[in-house]
Amino acid sequence: MQVVVSGIRPTGKLHLGNYFGAVRNFLEMQEKYRSYFFIADIHSLTTHPTPQDLHGNVKQVLAEYLAMGLDPAKCALFIQSDVPEIPELYTYMNMNAYLGELERSASFKDKVRAHKDNVNAGLLTYPVLMAVDILIHKADFVPVGKDQEQHLEMTRQFGNRFNRMYNAQVFPEPQAYSSTGELVKVPGLTGQGKMSKSGGEADAIFFDDDDTVTRKKIMRAVTDSGPTEPNAPKSEEVQNLFELLKLVSTTDTIEHFENSYADCSIRYGDLKKQLAEDMLKFIAPIRERIREVKNDSAYLSKSAQIGAEKARESASATLKEVREIIGFRKFY
Ligand code: AMP
Repeated sequence: MQVVVSGIRPTGKLHLGNYFGAVRNFLEMQEKYRSYFFIADIHSLTTHPTPQDLHGNVKQVLAEYLAMGLDPAKCALFIQSDVPEIPELYTYMNMNAYLGELERSASFKDKVRAHKDNVNAGLLTYPVLMAVDILIHKADFVPVGKDQEQHLEMTRQFGNRFNRMYNAQVFPEPQAYSSTGELVKVPGLTGQGKMSKSGGEADAIFFDDDDTVTRKKIMRAVTDSGPTEPNAPKSEEVQNLFELLKLVSTTDTIEHFENSYADCSIRYGDLKKQLAEDMLKFIAPIRERIREVKNDSAYLSKSAQIGAEKARESASATLKEVREIIGFRKFY
């Protein structure tokens, strides 16, 4: 069976964009492939989180992915730091990654620009750790966004270089995975492009928010002064609301508001009210499940344990092979 690997940043609460852009694809993958989904807590150390924040965010993300339907019986959902084989392989692969190529990585350059006061070695070798996350399970596919394509190319380069150096076929070349479903980009509520956590509290609809908070955010979403002539093109802000409607409302509802926009009778207040109700209908059961899972420490710990066992089984097999090839052969 083909293998898929994907990382999850432990950034706390998930929003609607994460669900439609990532989680939904994971749900599809766990049915079709041997899937490894890991919470990238080692990667996150480059930003120096406090121990409380780190643990809290990992727990939140684990609980949310489980609540959204990732199934420990179907996939390996694990925490990166639970798999010591990963930092071990990272050490070996670092010997075979060159300063020049690491400095040329676009994400490294971006991070140096953004965090001038914290240009640590972990940032520089971030692509090596990413490559290891993928290579250690001999992945065939990795779901990647545009900004990650260079990392995947580096992963292939590191894997091939290792194979050549030791004249062994250890690592296959992972390919970018494209979902069979359409790629959705969920817009934010502030009219500023896609929904994101960094867009501020008002921009994103979080699954763990209470109904009143979500309703308020939607009612305050940015619009315009309304269509002034029949079939006028929509402003970006209004188009965004329609995009959100498409994710959670019925075709009848969407059609109703499309028509009332086209004949200029639309009242944005009504559109928002309907959007809020449909959104809450979609979110509420998932949110309740998130809260249940978060309070079920036995389930959380069992799930993390199963994930770690699955990941270590695969990782330790690769590492055994690698150690042997490198020349770490046991005398005892
Ligand atoms: P983040 O942790 O914010 O980088 O997002 C994690 C995953 O969610 C990534 O795979 C993103 O592609 C996806 N994602 C985040 N925001 C959106 C969005 N507004 N629309 C679609 N996908 C998104």
